[in-house]
Amino acid sequence: MKLIFEKSREGRRLSILPPADVPHTALPQDLCREAPLRLPQVAECDIDRHYAALARRAHGVCNGFYPLGSCTMKYNPRIDEEIAALPGFAGIHPLQRPQTAQGGREVLSLCEAMLCEITGMDAVTFQPAAGAHGEFTGLLLIKAYHEDRGDMARTKIIVPDSAHGTNPASAAMAGYEVVNIPSGTDGCVDLEALRAAVGPDTASLMLTNPNTVGLFDPNILQITRIVHEAGGLCYYDGANLNAIMGVVRPGDMGFDVVHLNLHKTFATPHGGGGPGSGPVGCKAFLNPFMPQSCLGGTPGEKSMGQVRAFYGNFAVVVKALCYMLTLGAQGIREAAENAVLNANYMMHGLKGTYDMAYDHICMHEFVMTLDKLKKETGVSALDVAKGLLDAGIHPPTMYFPLIVHEALMVEPTETESRETLDEAVDVLIDLAKTARENPQVLHDSPLHTPIRRPDEVRAARSPKLKADLP
Ligand SMILES: *Cc1c(COP(=O)(O)O)cnc(C)c1O
Repeated sequence: MKLIFEKSREGRRLSILPPADVPHTALPQDLCREAPLRLPQVAECDIDRHYAALARRAHGVCNGFYPLGSCTMKYNPRIDEEIAALPGFAGIHPLQRPQTAQGGREVLSLCEAMLCEITGMDAVTFQPAAGAHGEFTGLLLIKAYHEDRGDMARTKIIVPDSAHGTNPASAAMAGYEVVNIPSGTDGCVDLEALRAAVGPDTASLMLTNPNTVGLFDPNILQITRIVHEAGGLCYYDGANLNAIMGVVRPGDMGFDVVHLNLHKTFATPHGGGGPGSGPVGCKAFLNPFMPQSCLGGTPGEKSMGQVRAFYGNFAVVVKALCYMLTLGAQGIREAAENAVLNANYMMHGLKGTYDMAYDHICMHEFVMTLDKLKKETGVSALDVAKGLLDAGIHPPTMYFPLIVHEALMVEPTETESRETLDEAVDVLIDLAKTARENPQVLHDSPLHTPIRRPDEVRAARSPKLKADLP
């Protein structure tokens, strides 16, 4: 495919601007560029085709099924985008006098109230720009609390090995020592290992629930009790609230702090590179340490300090509010129930063909292990993922979580129909058959995508982001 610069022709342009109706004035020389800015010169039709062609080379939820586990790539209603783009929201400025921005303030406080209701928390900050940023904020909140009590000995964060990878990373970033505890054979927290790990040096437990193998920990109340009895706090990674919203609340399970990913569960598309929003909710006793109220203002005397300017990514909050108002309390619960139903339906359809990492009822996602298939046929999880691409399906998350060998982690989401799930199950069953009958086909896949198999290490470590233009 040609670069837009290669399509450029001197003097070609799209003239959508009306002629100037004011006198032309030259800019002061010292403010001008030394060389003219190099911009492609193309007609409107060419530019439209160029970007449409680029879009066709990528796979999104509008192209087909996208069951990327731990990412919640669901269809998000267009109405939310349209509401967020209304001039009254899009044109609002954070330095505007509050008297002139009452609508924006109402969005923030209404969304805070709803998220408090959904999580069982007492206050929310919208400052964090993403999930990992929310984790970092929540941990600094916990740190500020312990330090305010003069308890400086709590230097450790307990993270089960089934946690999302950002959990230990955020704990380290916040200056904590990470204590990893293993999961039991059932994929859940090993209570004995947890009891052995907690103590006067425990600042908090960070729990991803449902965990990264898609299971709701049945011992959740015991877990939070063990940590609290040791004087630690409990942090809930609620990035994927899809399975539980409207059904159970982290606050009722004994958690003190929670972050959500509005760009997974609440109607902002995930995977576009942002902007996102990772609001943090806390119980009332932690509120004095929060960055500031969700309506801004001066942070309190004990505040951990701001983690971002102003009110966070406001437009993402507008979308979340619009989504919640559209669904209503009943609809939010139904979305969660359908996310869980869809995952279990697909898992059931695949059970005879693929091995499940944990053969329990799952939440919004499930994990298969292709270890045996690889030993028997040489076909790996990667090969099956590449085979899916030729069928127009985005692969599930691969080789994650790390505690499962040859893992494929599938999250169908609540927005997919039974027919789509049936088709995907058929495709996966077909691929397993191909693995046994003609494995080379899968080693060679994909055959019909714009690029075949890039060197994934080089693509990530030394990406070529700039073209050498003549
Ligand atoms: C996605 C995710 C995160 C990180 O969120 P980002 O917005 O990508 O920083 C954290 N925890 C869990 C469980 C997640 O799924």
